Amino acid sequence: MTEQRRSRLSAEVDFERDGKQTGFVRLFHSVHRSAYGFIPIPIVVIRNGAGPTALFISGNHGDEYEGQVTLCNLAKSLQSSDIKGRVILLPMANFPAAQAGLRTSPIDRRNLNREFPGDPNGDVTQQIAYYISSTLLPMADVVYDLHSGGSSLAHLPAVSMKRSPDKAFEKRAYAALQSLGAPLAYITEGAQGTGREETLGAQAAARGIIALGSELGGSGTVARPGLRIAERAVRNLMVHMGILPESARIPADGPMRVTRVGGADYFVYASEAGVWEPCVELGDMVEAGQLAARIHTPETPWAPPAEVHFARDGLVLVRRLPARTVRGDCLFHLSTDAPDLFA
Ligand code: ZN
Repeated sequence: MTEQRRSRLSAEVDFERDGKQTGFVRLFHSVHRSAYGFIPIPIVVIRNGAGPTALFISGNHGDEYEGQVTLCNLAKSLQSSDIKGRVILLPMANFPAAQAGLRTSPIDRRNLNREFPGDPNGDVTQQIAYYISSTLLPMADVVYDLHSGGSSLAHLPAVSMKRSPDKAFEKRAYAALQSLGAPLAYITEGAQGTGREETLGAQAAARGIIALGSELGGSGTVARPGLRIAERAVRNLMVHMGILPESARIPADGPMRVTRVGGADYFVYASEAGVWEPCVELGDMVEAGQLAARIHTPETPWAPPAEVHFARDGLVLVRRLPARTVRGDCLFHLSTDAPDLFA
């Protein structure tokens, strides 16, 4: 069998045509109920002559909604006459997951943001990753992937970027991050300190494309603070790139608090199964050794709860939502203030 390295997906839009076009990226998927059908991944392309390209993505995880709402609003409000260059919107990147309201695809159970650069001959999610990597990323000067905590996490609304060994590139990415006008940023070394490379952001950065992210809240809902940050960030990023004029900038409410997420000691995991009781809340400053959570076993209510502690000082950036937990669940993760990170 000969394998092809070209994406099997095809877009109904022409990325080189001026104006606003809406349509679908077709992912052919032959199943019992639809032998010759395709999965319709919505896409919007807005172009006005030569200029930079911004690629905005949400629904990479299907249970994260603030980005999807932001891009829905942008799809209607942004006109080609407003811009110079090109804007590509992919609001439901992992369409089957987003339609089901799940982090991972109900078709192949894969997590799109762990599948880059993807596989043109792989499962549905791997094919989507490959299309983004091979077709959309090469067009982009900047990619902004809008996430939130999803169903299992609540996140302090924040914008993010990943560090790079290329200092000139990192400086350009940080300038773009600062332009977003967000109140809080966290800088990562890689997912959970593991140096993971299979995320969209890592894939883009590896290709020399500025890659920014957001965690806009979560809890499986849409909250206004995260929406407001996202709305301002997408506008201001387009201004920063020269796609929108300076007059379109939405001013920041204040300076951006810059924090970093380092290695394993930034994360607190459940040590036992049970019902966990948080001992701190989002936004709290904590110290090394401080009690993070008690894990109770209502099945044996007389048994003492297990206690887990923070391994370092920091800001509580993320907490788990569901009360039932098993060993290995992430209960909290921290970030630490790093105002001089790029000084
Ligand atoms: Zn996500």
